[in-house]
Amino acid sequence: MANRVNHRKKHEIKTTYYDKFQCLASECPITCCKEWKISVDEKSSKKWNDTRWSDHRETEYIENAKTKKLSEYLIHYKEADVICLNEKKECPFLDQQKLCKLVLRYGDQILSKTCREFPREIHEFKDRREYSLAACCPAVVDFWRDTQDVLDKEAMEKMESDIKNNKERHLYQLRMLLISCLEDQKISIEKALLMGFYLLLEGKDGRVSYQKEELEELSQAVDEMDFQIEDTFLEDNALFLDMTENYWKQGIYRIFLEPLREEASRMETDDGYIENEFMQEYGKFLKVYRDQESLLRKYLIAEMFGQLLLDDYDWQDMTVAMQWIGMEYAIMRQAAFLTFKQTGTLSYEQMKEVIVYIARMTGYDDADIWEYLEESFQTLIWEWGYFAFIIGNRKGE
Ligand code: SF4
Repeated sequence: MANRVNHRKKHEIKTTYYDKFQCLASECPITCCKEWKISVDEKSSKKWNDTRWSDHRETEYIENAKTKKLSEYLIHYKEADVICLNEKKECPFLDQQKLCKLVLRYGDQILSKTCREFPREIHEFKDRREYSLAACCPAVVDFWRDTQDVLDKEAMEKMESDIKNNKERHLYQLRMLLISCLEDQKISIEKALLMGFYLLLEGKDGRVSYQKEELEELSQAVDEMDFQIEDTFLEDNALFLDMTENYWKQGIYRIFLEPLREEASRMETDDGYIENEFMQEYGKFLKVYRDQESLLRKYLIAEMFGQLLLDDYDWQDMTVAMQWIGMEYAIMRQAAFLTFKQTGTLSYEQMKEVIVYIARMTGYDDADIWEYLEESFQTLIWEWGYFAFIIGNRKGE
């Protein structure tokens, strides 16, 4: 008997704005074609090896182009091919109108998978496919400003009942539980993250469902804890300096980083700052930061949907991903404060810039995240206390 081919179409779940995405191209304020490692997959790399960049008038922008193959614009970095950026740290194929010369010359099919797909993230599971958009693109942040809901909750719940594998369903439900904490507008982002991380640690042995009263008790317990806002601030300042240091040394994101790192370094070494100015300045900052709360909530929900669960993940992977999201948020909030301190304002455009740049700088792959955590914290999984330390709680603002 002939083998039966399974033609069953995979279920699909997407963030609500996924299909509306369009690259801003020449209108993009923070193009992804510069200061960025643009990887070129093996298939594209082979194609580039057979493609000469020699017979087109656009070549006048590229030095020695007459003798080069496209593959000669690649360098090997961490076992992958990446495009070698020019001295302005831009992709050599970016033209003066901020358009891609390769697309203009050869069409989309010449692009590497990264360039073709960015900022789309597609996660394949056995019986479903999940689609989201990464925070590293300003057009995606605009969706969070303009969209009411990041996720279609009904579709998410329906999908849950279709997951047959127990382990996979457990992780799926844990992710839903964490997202639902953030969707509750009555609690602050900080408290939602603290509750979520607690529930995730408790979920190691399989627990995912809680009565309303139990969650209220947890919320109250978090409120009754004593948080030292100054200590959280200093730790987040150190995390900001640490996370941005390599980029700074390599001369990447200089325009964004220079004023912020200057402030952060000054505050780190000025013993009197916390005692004399901090509380007053931080109080003013929190007032304007509150205006960005809805945007940041949607950013976090989208991050949790896109980053907490991949096909081969177990509880440990999900917990590491949650810690990374928490740390990313703490660094973003710190960068927002530094921006406010520098300019006296925190507009939507400024917050968007902070989200995009910090997301790019913290956008490590899993192996690098594990290495960073093990080297910096000597442990992969944090205690709840450290997560709470870097996030803090804004109850008394
Ligand atoms: S960052 Fe986004 S909008 Fe800007 S060029 Fe890249 S894909 Fe397009």
